[in-house]
Amino acid sequence: MDSLRTNTHRDIYFDNAATMTKIPESIKAELDFYKSIDANPLRGVYRRSVMATELLENTRKKILEFIGGSDDGEIVFTKGATEALNLAADGVRNIISKDDLILVDICNHHSNILPWTERYTNAKIVDLVKNTEISHAKIIAICGMSNVTGENFIAKVRMIRKENKDAILVLDAAQLIAHADLAEVINYVDFVAFSGHKIGSPMGVGVLYIGQKIKQNIEPMNYGGEMVDAVLYENNSVKPIFSEGAQKFEAGTLNLGGICGLSKSIDFWNHIDTRDAYKRENELTRYLTKKMSKMQDVTVYAGDNGIITFNVKDVHPHDCAQILDQFGISVRAGFHCAQPFLIYKNWGPVVRVSLSIFSTKEEVDYFLEVLSKVRLEMGFDE
Ligand code: PMP
Repeated sequence: MDSLRTNTHRDIYFDNAATMTKIPESIKAELDFYKSIDANPLRGVYRRSVMATELLENTRKKILEFIGGSDDGEIVFTKGATEALNLAADGVRNIISKDDLILVDICNHHSNILPWTERYTNAKIVDLVKNTEISHAKIIAICGMSNVTGENFIAKVRMIRKENKDAILVLDAAQLIAHADLAEVINYVDFVAFSGHKIGSPMGVGVLYIGQKIKQNIEPMNYGGEMVDAVLYENNSVKPIFSEGAQKFEAGTLNLGGICGLSKSIDFWNHIDTRDAYKRENELTRYLTKKMSKMQDVTVYAGDNGIITFNVKDVHPHDCAQILDQFGISVRAGFHCAQPFLIYKNWGPVVRVSLSIFSTKEEVDYFLEVLSKVRLEMGFDE
């Protein structure tokens, strides 16, 4: 073990579900924007501002194509999936009444639970697989892929749409976006939220896709500059004329540097053979899950799409994560912002490994070697 410990050059990052390893071209694109154009888009008539506007609008189009959205849908830039889901929850305020049923799937991250439960007393947390009220719901908040189990819920989303053709379906695609093609699911839902940093672009940029069916009825969450065409003033009062389309939801200066980074990371994903990349990631997940399941003192709860959750017997998840860190391995431990789900499953806090398409078998084998020594490090005899 000491020989492993002295192996200080190791730096294995297995927390890609929290934020994915960044794509170098994406970081460079953010920097390049500030080094060259560095102007606020949308309002300026001078050349640099016009170039900034072009970058912004071209990225919108690129994202719409990438996720397979309808030409009539809107790509709204936010600072991340969390803000996007809050915008969805806030935006529907005028089309739901207190008697309308809002179903929130238990397997969601806190980001697709609290925006609903903190705004609407009629929001109900349920296990959608077992729920019998789907056909009565007005809004259903669904997770595309669990950040705890890695399970892909595309089939479930389609089933929900089949059972309720009219409900507003709100999809949290924060994990799904790095492991599946959103085009497989986008036509079944009304809102899709994700963060750029989960696909290798800088932090601080996310997207809310708003489907054509509902976009006219959605209210902005923030008010201010850039989201109005005019603000009329008369007799000590004002009347805003809101912009059309996505801009109505984007008050204030956008993170255009980050948006340029997102644009480049989408180029990356468009360029690689994603089917092959997902296949390799899944093979590695299966290999790791199988090896871990054979370890006597390790309980594996789930293993899918790069995510493996587990505990080591008699070792608190945080202790386990700290020991792994001493050997150069970064993993996450705790409730993973999905505490209701972990309580519902009776698992409690767990350790999570999350691979990416860049993870290698060599890294996984080193992790297995260190994991097999965690109890020894904690002072247990074996
Ligand atoms: N949903 C899921 C499933 C997630 O895994 C995360 C990030 N852990 C989020 C939402 C929130 O993403 P962000 O923090 O980028 O807003």
